[in-house]
Amino acid sequence: MIPITKCFLPPIELYTEWVQKAYDKQWLTNRGELVQLLEERLKGYLDVDWMTVTNNGTIPLQIALKLLGKGGEIITTPFSYVATTAAIVWENCTPVFVDIHPEYLTIDETKIEAAITNKTTCILATHVFGNPCAVEAIEAIAKKHNLYVIYDAAHAFGVRHDEQSIFNYGDVSTCSFHATKLFHTGEGGAMFAKDAQLQQQMYYSHNFGHKGPLDFHGLGINGKISELHAAMGLAVFESMDVIIAARKVVVDGYDALLDFTKIEKMKLRAGTEWNYSYYPVLFRTEADLLDTLERLKANAIYPRRYFNPSLNTVPYVQGAVMPVSESVARRVLCLPLYVGLEHIDLENISKIINSYK
Ligand SMILES: *Cc1c(COP(=O)(O)O)cnc(C)c1O
Repeated sequence: MIPITKCFLPPIELYTEWVQKAYDKQWLTNRGELVQLLEERLKGYLDVDWMTVTNNGTIPLQIALKLLGKGGEIITTPFSYVATTAAIVWENCTPVFVDIHPEYLTIDETKIEAAITNKTTCILATHVFGNPCAVEAIEAIAKKHNLYVIYDAAHAFGVRHDEQSIFNYGDVSTCSFHATKLFHTGEGGAMFAKDAQLQQQMYYSHNFGHKGPLDFHGLGINGKISELHAAMGLAVFESMDVIIAARKVVVDGYDALLDFTKIEKMKLRAGTEWNYSYYPVLFRTEADLLDTLERLKANAIYPRRYFNPSLNTVPYVQGAVMPVSESVARRVLCLPLYVGLEHIDLENISKIINSYK
């Protein structure tokens, strides 16, 4: 059976070595030694000045929207994982969808200004599949209209744009360290910000608002990650170069084997150092996709229809029609991509995809 992804497991001895440190200190949460060490290592690797590791990639979206969204309208992409939209609604803000670019698959920056009203507070866009949004254009619009920019960068671990960490763009970026993501802690995530006051607010928000044991800066929730999850992260982190190199081999394999006269690849934005996080392909029609999906299933190959449905159609939003996103959502398939996927499997997958009529 070939799934869409397999979570990367570091050697168990390495994991238990890190877990042992938590046992030695008898300390399992509340930002122990392992969480702090993980943060230090990730800050160096990702080339950012400030980050806080959290218990997943959704809580940081909620924290950012709580602090910056202020119950207003949030301009957002309909082509993302459901968490992007759900976090907006969960924080009592209103999602205002703007359609995506048909090749980059990120929010279409040329359509953003038309969607701004006097209730707009933020733009929340996703660097979908690790492909950066048009960050310069988006930030120029935000500046002009006095809006905050939040990037759901759940897919963008390690991505660089114009020689900078992608997490350095926008007011806030968030990442997910879920087991299926490129770098993982089992469950986990992170938040990034540049403004010192915002950093402080985000930090206390993820720890119940605590200032000291007995006093509070303000409202907070529990966004803390445990030492056991940090132990997994530290063990996975030691293989980061191996993980990226192995995924690059798979991506290069698909690039060489697939017939791009029938299917289309996502276009990577110029100036991007990508992370090989997903391999999305677009079929001409949904019928072509479904036919291919059946033939792959018959060979025990299970890609995923990421992302479907288009988020303007989920039942708890009143979204306008988004022709590009809805069309892409019907025609997109993410191909199996993980460390340990063999070349023979790539050949089989590619042969099946190339043979559709
Ligand atoms: C995975 C993902 C999230 C949510 O992350 P969790 O760690 O599972 O909470 C949010 N946005 C996008 C685009 C994702 O892919």
